[in-house]
Amino acid sequence: MTAAETRPRVLVLGGGFAGVGAAQKLTDAHAEVVLVDRHDYHTFQPLLYQLATGLLETTGVGHSLRDLLEHHGNATIHKASVTGIDLDARTVTFAEIAPISYDYLVLGLGAEVNFFGTEGAAEHAFPMYTLPNAVRLKDHLLERWEAADRDPRLAEDGALNVVVVGGGPTGVETAGAVAELYRGDLAKDYRDVREDDARITLVEAGPELFPMFKPKLRDYTEKALADRTVEVRTDTAVASVSPTRVTLKSGDELKAHTLVWGAGLQGNDLVRSLGLELQRGNRIGVGPDLSLPEHPEVYVVGDVAAIVDAKTRQVLPQLGSVALQSGEHAGETIGRRIAGKDAKPFKYRDKGTMATIGRGAAVVQMLGGKTMTGLKAQVAWGTVHLALLPTNEDRAKAVVDWVGAATTHERVGRITVESE
Ligand SMILES: Cc1cc2nc3c(=O)[nH]c(=O)nc-3n(C[C@H](O)[C@H](O)[C@H](O)COP(=O)(O)OP(=O)(O)OC[C@H]3O[C@@H](n4cnc5c(N)ncnc54)[C@H](O)[C@@H]3O)c2cc1C
Repeated sequence: MTAAETRPRVLVLGGGFAGVGAAQKLTDAHAEVVLVDRHDYHTFQPLLYQLATGLLETTGVGHSLRDLLEHHGNATIHKASVTGIDLDARTVTFAEIAPISYDYLVLGLGAEVNFFGTEGAAEHAFPMYTLPNAVRLKDHLLERWEAADRDPRLAEDGALNVVVVGGGPTGVETAGAVAELYRGDLAKDYRDVREDDARITLVEAGPELFPMFKPKLRDYTEKALADRTVEVRTDTAVASVSPTRVTLKSGDELKAHTLVWGAGLQGNDLVRSLGLELQRGNRIGVGPDLSLPEHPEVYVVGDVAAIVDAKTRQVLPQLGSVALQSGEHAGETIGRRIAGKDAKPFKYRDKGTMATIGRGAAVVQMLGGKTMTGLKAQVAWGTVHLALLPTNEDRAKAVVDWVGAATTHERVGRITVESE
């Protein structure tokens, strides 16, 4: 019998902030740690829009999972898709590898896009949730500019127009970044295109952008978007999408060959098959230590969990810092339990709510109500997000790219690499 066989097995599903955080905290535990993800990389979702708009390269947003756990001697990694989880049999099945049984399970499978049944969205919209999503959007935008360069009638048909759906951080950040790519780089690359033939419209079904922020931050955001020529339409919902048109619920039709979907998320669809009572947005309710009351050997962390904040009694938002801290807590707690110690309740350390709109424009709202805007807020945003990046090498790369873009106003990633 090998040493691994005598140790309890902790199976970690998902290599996002939550799963990686859990696996890293188990490094000193007397446990065999197995992490499975359908990709061989960890995706840094907060920077996807920077990849989609040529500010960062693929390796600035995706990081090899094997590299991240290289120095964790008790961890192994498999690239495989989870197909089923049997909580009673304590076994998980996969599409590509044999089933794996566990003593402890960390469920960190994240969330996925929710099109709310919008006609044509699944086929034609560009969601912003995965690394392939961001690369696909970037390639599509660049391809439309090349197509309009060859045939200027396409620009009149809306080839360069972009509609971004969703007035939350994903929508606002993407709209601001696309506008800077358009006005700062592509307008110079393609001198014959008129500004009016390359419009960016941000639509939000509710009455305002950024409902989670104070009114003065919302006003600042609207102005920063307007300065970047983004047209904001609130109280506006999308009814259907086709490859070249976006139809609004009002009946208006917008000429646009690109619709970016940043409007909705739901917990990973797999959770529906667990036989658990789910909360709003397909999320799994957890106990104070993040385990399932019915299955104390199962910890649910990150976007797929509905975690009630011990301080505010509110369900925590789906954020990178919540995912990382909850994953780390699960890893630490499992380590404690294996060592015969008690589980401790999870306490979230809130670093503030923040979003960036463009170069030198960002908003930050701290837990106590203090706010920041502009460059100061962007530095705070950068600091918090650099801390979330998995390695020092990634931090260094991001800083070089951000400083480069801030000083030269150039986005280096505006090339397309076709597969042969
Ligand atoms: C565009 C965007 C911008 C964001 N900006 C910010 C921000 O500025 N600040 C912030 O704090 N948060 C931000 N967030 C939220 C933050 O990124 C998420 O809360 C965080 O990534 C959740 O981490 P997670 O580990 O729970 O899930 P994920 O990061 O989604 O990881 C889940 C993992 O599970 C894997 N997986 C899923 N299904 C399967 C399967 N069937 N089989 C195998 N593997 C599977 C996936 O490949 C993935 O690696 C943003 C999110 C998006 C989409």
